[in-house]
Order: sequence, then C-alpha cells, then structure tokens
Amino acid sequence: MTTPDLADHAPPVPPVAIAISACLLGVPVRYDGGHKKNPLLVSNKSIQWIPFCPEHECGLGTPREPMQWQGAAHHPRLCTVETQRDHTQQLWQWCHRQVHLQSRLPIAGWLLKSRSPSCGLSGVTLLDRNNQHHIEHLGLFPRLLLAIHPQAIIAEGDCLHDETALNTFLQRITPPACHRTHPVQE
Ligand code: SF4
Repeated sequence: MTTPDLADHAPPVPPVAIAISACLLGVPVRYDGGHKKNPLLVSNKSIQWIPFCPEHECGLGTPREPMQWQGAAHHPRLCTVETQRDHTQQLWQWCHRQVHLQSRLPIAGWLLKSRSPSCGLSGVTLLDRNNQHHIEHLGLFPRLLLAIHPQAIIAEGDCLHDETALNTFLQRITPPACHRTHPVQE
C-alpha cells in the first residue's frame, strides 16, 4: 500500500503580498516612458505583487517632465526640473491616500525604486537655493509610509540582484496577523 502524499491535500499557502514601485516590474511608467524591470522580481511566482506609481497615478501621466526636490531642507518642494512646476501637493495627496489604502491590505513589505524623488529609500537628491545638490534620505512615499508605519519593512527593489538578496528580504517579512495560521492542536 502506498503512502498518500500529504502535500497533495495541504491547503494552498497564500502568496506573500508585496507592494512595489511599478517600474521595477517592467511597467513603462518612468518619466521618459521607460521602466527599470528587475527580472529576478518579475520571475518570482510566489509573490503577489501590488504595483503602484505615485507620479503616474497622481495624474501626471507618462511621459512627464522629470522632477526633483528643491529649496530649503526643512520645507522642500517637488518641482519639475525645467519648467519649475510645483507638484508637491498633488503627489502628497496621492501618496497620503495610497499609504492609508495599502494599510488596509495584507501587505507584508514594500520594494521601492532607489533615488526616485517619489519612491526612493536612499540617494534622493535635494537641490538647495544655491544650486548645490545634497543627498536626502527619503522620497515622498516612504517618508509618509514610515511616518504612519515606522515598522514597515522596506527595501530597494533595484538593489536585489540575486536570489540570496531576495530571500534575505523575504525572511524579514512577517506574515500579517490575518494571514497567520493557528498551530494545529494534537
Ligand atoms: S520610481 Fe516610483 S514614481 Fe518613479 S516611475 Fe517608478 S514607480 Fe513611478
């Protein structure tokens, strides 16, 4: 008599949900109509991706003029590089709404595009009033996300270049309480 394969009867494990800068999945939403696809992420079928793009989805569309943080460090503005249009309020409102929306979803972590004024977790530049560039730490979305969820698990998706780096990030993710399974009583 053959032993039944219990794996065939196990309930399916729900995929881990991760919110991600859409350009990292190959969605052409960058200011120039391009993307920053990371093939390692796109090929991973165990993750439920929740893509979003603050700049495209807030109404600026694609393509659009690139923007940067500028002005005083304590009150910087998000303006287009050439025409100096100030999009701070438009992006702030969208990001604020989106952070609250994503808070209600069982999202376990965030993978964001580095150096972006909207998504960047590091390497985001600020142009001061003397036309000097300074490296700021956070883009607008992670700034608001961390203000509301200081414990949010975030990494730069374009810096995950191999399975080891991706697995290290996945190991940091604790499934949300509503996804945890209760221990089996024997
Ligand atoms: S970095 Fe963020 S804002 Fe920029 S294209 Fe990617 S998803 Fe959109």
